[in-house]
Amino acid sequence: MEISCDILVVGGGIAGIAAAVKAAREGANTLLIEKNSFPGGIAIHAMHRYICGLYSSDLRAPINTLNGGIAEEICHELKNLSPGIEAIQMGNVYVYPFATKDLLKVLKNLIDKQTGLEIFYETELNSIQTKQDNIKKVITKGLKGELIIYPRAVIDCSGDGAAIRLSGAAYELSPANVRQLAGFCIKIKGIKNPPDMVFISVPYYVLHAVIEKKLPPYLKYIKFYPGDIDDEGFCLINLPFENNFEKAEEAKKLAVKIHDILVDSLVSFKDSYIDKLSSVIAEREGLRMVGQYMLTREDVLSARKFYDGVVKNAWPIELWNQDKGPVYQYVEAGDFYEIPLRCLKSINIKNLYGAGRCVSVSHEALGSTRVMGTCISLGEQAGLAAVKSLSGIGL
Ligand SMILES: Cc1cc2nc3c(=O)[nH]c(=O)nc-3n(C[C@H](O)[C@H](O)[C@H](O)COP(=O)(O)OP(=O)(O)OC[C@H]3O[C@@H](n4cnc5c(N)ncnc54)[C@H](O)[C@@H]3O)c2cc1C
Repeated sequence: MEISCDILVVGGGIAGIAAAVKAAREGANTLLIEKNSFPGGIAIHAMHRYICGLYSSDLRAPINTLNGGIAEEICHELKNLSPGIEAIQMGNVYVYPFATKDLLKVLKNLIDKQTGLEIFYETELNSIQTKQDNIKKVITKGLKGELIIYPRAVIDCSGDGAAIRLSGAAYELSPANVRQLAGFCIKIKGIKNPPDMVFISVPYYVLHAVIEKKLPPYLKYIKFYPGDIDDEGFCLINLPFENNFEKAEEAKKLAVKIHDILVDSLVSFKDSYIDKLSSVIAEREGLRMVGQYMLTREDVLSARKFYDGVVKNAWPIELWNQDKGPVYQYVEAGDFYEIPLRCLKSINIKNLYGAGRCVSVSHEALGSTRVMGTCISLGEQAGLAAVKSLSGIGL
């Protein structure tokens, strides 16, 4: 099968959906390919509970999102599905709580009602042919067999930089021992009368098991969040692993060990059981495109504004360090920084854009830009920029 399109978006995570919906809204004939059978990427398969990166760093409760557009729309739709939910404070920042099923519904609605947008699930980018620094031909494999796509512009929202790598675009990748810890989520049900401080008790008993060498040291950075209903909770474990089949199997075995320890240590977990596990290991950091500008730690912490700033963000630099666990560096209270449009455009492949996790930022700046709220707005701006470029406007 051969197809031509204006914009091809690779990856239907939160950034890719925003990119594809925006491109189609701007009148572009848009195709989105996603290797999973569902939209939402990490946010869905790692069972996230909160959208981060939506608000300014003001310590007062937020009224509006920092960026309007699709990020604001998604929050509005989530609120319609679960009225009464408000942004909540976590330390120095505000986050928006959501249930996985609600986010899935909102994302599916966004795609389904969008004219000019077609999505192919279970379709994986396989190879790219370039000519004179332009992507000319993209080949995918999957449910529909081999697909040959002729796009005018490509937006890489694959999280792992699949299109960046295959097109020969410039990129950076931190050495494995420097990369942020990856994550794996365990959903536990059947918890009875959990103590008020359960979010402290769970890490406490897991830490004990680490000290007694029953568990590997990196598991001490575990986090526990209560679920939507009283009897459930989510453990987020953090691992120095890349995502592959063997490591995912190893993570599943660790999840069972952790649950056994909680059953033995906490009365409220006695009759609990593992209801669900992440399907894959969720990587916080992968390949980062080298764009026409690379955002730095200093840009983030000095709340720098740019002449071509397109996305505002105030999420702290949250680095999941392999030795120290999470380390936070904050933007000054009440302020925000901007991400320039140049971070979304490849430095050497003319019709390639990157958004979401593979945007052009340094290892440290990624600690701030990689959260869901920011990824949605980055995707939206990449969609807009890619369409404008087709008529010779902008980058
Ligand atoms: C452990 C962990 C916990 C986190 N917790 C939070 C949190 O609580 N709140 C928050 O806001 N953020 C959180 N984040 C960050 C946030 O989830 C992600 O950075 C964000 O969702 C990334 O979105 P994305 O669309 O860029 O990438 P992804 O969600 O990774 O989406 C990329 C999509 O591309 C698809 N894909 C990949 N390769 C190909 C290919 N070759 N062909 C076709 N499709 C492909 C994938 O299947 C996937 O669906 C967390 C991240 C991790 C790892």
